[in-house]
Amino acid sequence: MLLEQILADCKAAGKPSISFEFFPPKTDKGEKNLWQCIQELTQLNPSFVSVTYGAGGTTQDRTLRIVKRIRKETALEPMAHLTCVGSTQDELAALLNEYKAAGMKNILALRGDAPEGMDKFEAVDGGFAHATDLVRFVREQQGFSIAVATYPEGHPESANGVADDLKYLKVKQDEGAIAAITQYFFDNDAYYRFREQAEKIGITIPIIPGIMPIGNYEQIVRFSKMCGASIPDWLHEKMQPIAGDLDAVKAMGIEVATQQCQNLLANDVAGVHIYALNKSEASLAICRNL
Ligand SMILES: Cc1cc2nc3c(=O)[nH]c(=O)nc-3n(C[C@H](O)[C@H](O)[C@H](O)COP(=O)(O)OP(=O)(O)OC[C@H]3O[C@@H](n4cnc5c(N)ncnc54)[C@H](O)[C@@H]3O)c2cc1C
Repeated sequence: MLLEQILADCKAAGKPSISFEFFPPKTDKGEKNLWQCIQELTQLNPSFVSVTYGAGGTTQDRTLRIVKRIRKETALEPMAHLTCVGSTQDELAALLNEYKAAGMKNILALRGDAPEGMDKFEAVDGGFAHATDLVRFVREQQGFSIAVATYPEGHPESANGVADDLKYLKVKQDEGAIAAITQYFFDNDAYYRFREQAEKIGITIPIIPGIMPIGNYEQIVRFSKMCGASIPDWLHEKMQPIAGDLDAVKAMGIEVATQQCQNLLANDVAGVHIYALNKSEASLAICRNL
């Protein structure tokens, strides 16, 4: 089903959408874990599930294989992430044709990050430099609902901070995106400010919060520095003293994400997108708490 329809159905039923994000594993063991995770999360009847898209050739093939299998073997609605990294327009068109042939309806159109070993993203000859171009291109291929990424605390490369992200989110909407999913954040007020500013410049598509359950605090601190997500003082005060005890961090991560979702859901979000990262435990606990 098209994401547009999924979100409209949720709205009509007065329910938020709940979605989970997975990544294509690199090993047989990882693949087994993923399928177990998918099986466990299926009981929550998610509105859709998404599969990330890596920077290299074989990783990219894995996304196609995983979403095809989700479509064939489960009742879940998969959404494939797609980036501009390393692909010409012809290659992107060929991949989109494969998705179409496999009955795929939903694409998360992204620019992508630089592949390992490269400092920064560079468009290939005959490819695209920005997600805004990819959104237009996917729309022109017809038949897909298009979602995009956005950054309530600003993308690290945005010279003018959040103002740039708002500007380009509007362009993504104008080019055909029907929903945005945010980079994870822990400060709901930053999200509310972003949403309010978005509304002011005519952004009407749902901005679905991306929720990251913390499983390893030190890792999150490192990753947040790279992706521009702030760690509020209150979170640091909760997590820092227990950082060495992974079980305690996991339990606190579930509590924090539950409270974050409760606050968001009480403030009129269309849904929440949980970065499940091929693990079911935290997502199951958060959804049960909700
Ligand atoms: C929900 C979500 C899912 C993700 N999934 C993946 C994934 O599967 N694979 C992966 O590799 N990465 C993924 N990412 C990471 C993402 O690829 C990176 O954050 C990347 O650096 C930016 O992608 P984007 O689509 O937001 O790019 P863009 O929207 O192109 O933004 C990148 C930068 O360019 C600027 N910009 C945007 N449009 C224009 C324009 N038209 N002209 C000038 N400047 C512009 C923006 O302000 C920003 O600073 C995901 C991120 C999110 C939030």
